[in-house]
Amino acid sequence: MDDRSAERSVAPWSGEGVAADAPDGFVNIAWEAVDRHVRDGFGTERAMLWLGKDGGRLAFSYADLAEASSRFANVLAARGIERGDGVFALMGRTPELYVAALGALKAGLVFTPLFSAFGPDPIRTRMEIGDARVLVTTAPLYLRKIADWIHALPSLKLVLIVGEDAPEGCVALAPAMRGASAAFETVRTGPEDPALIHFTSGTTGKPKGVVHVHDAVRYHAFSGREALDLRPGAIYWCTADPGWVTGTSYGIVAPLVNRARMIVDEAEFDLERWYATIAREKVEVWYTAPTAIRMMMRSGEAAAKAWDLSSLRFLASVGEPLNPEAVIWSQKAFGQPFHDNWWQTETGGIMIANRPGMAVKPGSMGRPMPGIDAAVVEHRGEAVALLGDDEVGELALRPGWPSMMRGYLHEEARFRKAFADGWYLSGDLVRRDAEGYFWFVGRADDLIKTSGHLVGPFEVENALIEHEAVAEAGVIGVPDETAGEVVKAYVTLNPGFEPGEALEREIRGHARKRLGPAVAPREVVFRRSLPKTRSGKIMRRLLKARELGSPEGDISTLETDET
Ligand code: ATP
Ligand code: MG
Repeated sequence: MDDRSAERSVAPWSGEGVAADAPDGFVNIAWEAVDRHVRDGFGTERAMLWLGKDGGRLAFSYADLAEASSRFANVLAARGIERGDGVFALMGRTPELYVAALGALKAGLVFTPLFSAFGPDPIRTRMEIGDARVLVTTAPLYLRKIADWIHALPSLKLVLIVGEDAPEGCVALAPAMRGASAAFETVRTGPEDPALIHFTSGTTGKPKGVVHVHDAVRYHAFSGREALDLRPGAIYWCTADPGWVTGTSYGIVAPLVNRARMIVDEAEFDLERWYATIAREKVEVWYTAPTAIRMMMRSGEAAAKAWDLSSLRFLASVGEPLNPEAVIWSQKAFGQPFHDNWWQTETGGIMIANRPGMAVKPGSMGRPMPGIDAAVVEHRGEAVALLGDDEVGELALRPGWPSMMRGYLHEEARFRKAFADGWYLSGDLVRRDAEGYFWFVGRADDLIKTSGHLVGPFEVENALIEHEAVAEAGVIGVPDETAGEVVKAYVTLNPGFEPGEALEREIRGHARKRLGPAVAPREVVFRRSLPKTRSGKIMRRLLKARELGSPEGDISTLETDET
């Protein structure tokens, strides 16, 4: 892309992936994730342990996954589904989802997992944008959310229904799998062949469809090992749903490629269940998100200490800024810090991280991954100016790593706009300290301008969370005649605290002491929950739209929504 990357010595991920050395450039995510291990004699090792909502427990070896995904690939091939076709999955975290992902990739198809909790409209829009040829789902989901409109989707050829029976016009997956051969020769995809389409979380607006290619697997192999310490045999639990990029990149691909033993839990967050799972399954590496960590904090240190969690050796978090308070709490509750890392659907993999062995600075996202060129920049027209230490600017990355997006579906102009001067512009504001650690300030859209100060919501939220009563905080700027904008906070409370004027005053006083009067919120509003995306991100734009009475925009990914 530019001189600097050309000059740079060989990228640290260049040796990843055995198949990449194939003379025809063959690289396929599923082959790297499962079949290669079977070929190398590790077929009997455990790949996945599935924990059902109702207590079910199923173990899959690498050979089991290789075989099941081959059957799935054959089911599709036998029904005329062709290389490059789009396969969508809409289901909970059941084994079929993982088999479908691997089978579709093996067959050279383009896979898109959706959150099963999406309503009919978000499902339909995404399937339209992604030209879905195949949908894999369950009978209840199909009947409730899809049957009414599916016939109007011209691209769709096949609906597979998990289980023994299927509604009319659909194919039941279980008998089809039994009838299919267990041998399938992986389609010889090349590095640049599309493999996955993920939709962004919709935190700042309408979700975008992001295209990733098979070559991404080399970065997943590399970053899984370097940022999450995934090793052969490591017991690893990524709590994310594959409907969000984390649940695929690091909830399917990275652990399998690194021959780890992954845990898949069908159930949603439940404190007791989570601690019990770690203790019983002896989870070693745990990758989760700030929302869950804040819920654990809310339940207190003693709740964590009641369990034997001594198997844990590495904790990591992604998706939202991780409050320093949460890192400090984790040290007390688990005897080790959560390691924050930063990336996006667009980057496909972890870019900035507190890696194993690095000194963690609570509140910092860590340092760029080896081989990743990250900068803090100011965008001036076509040009991009590099900023120095401690200056706040946009986080920019020099493209060239394999899991970088290759496009936004049907949005070529938007894709082009994300680049300037050879940099990819992330849309997030950060600063870098003298030791090269990056600190999240806020989304470019969320920045608050008050009385000549620029305020990042994260800083204010951190100060609020320090107060013993506050569990979560979402901070926005609201228009003000004299100040331009003033800072307003929405908070949820920890158990044992009741909303009231006195508490509001106290929290504001605390914030003023920590932040000074210019930055501290002018008003604190108590809420039972904050609006969040399904991937657990606070939707500040929605707090703001509601505050201003302006249109709410795309809320297809909204999950929690109580006031
Ligand atoms: P949309 O692009 O549709 O508005 P989104 O940006 O939330 O949604 P994702 O790609 O799922 O969609 O999320 C990536 C974003 O999440 C990052 O750009 C950043 O704003 C935030 N994020 C992820 N990890 C971190 C982190 N460790 N610290 C702070 N923010 C983070
Ligand atoms: Mg985004």
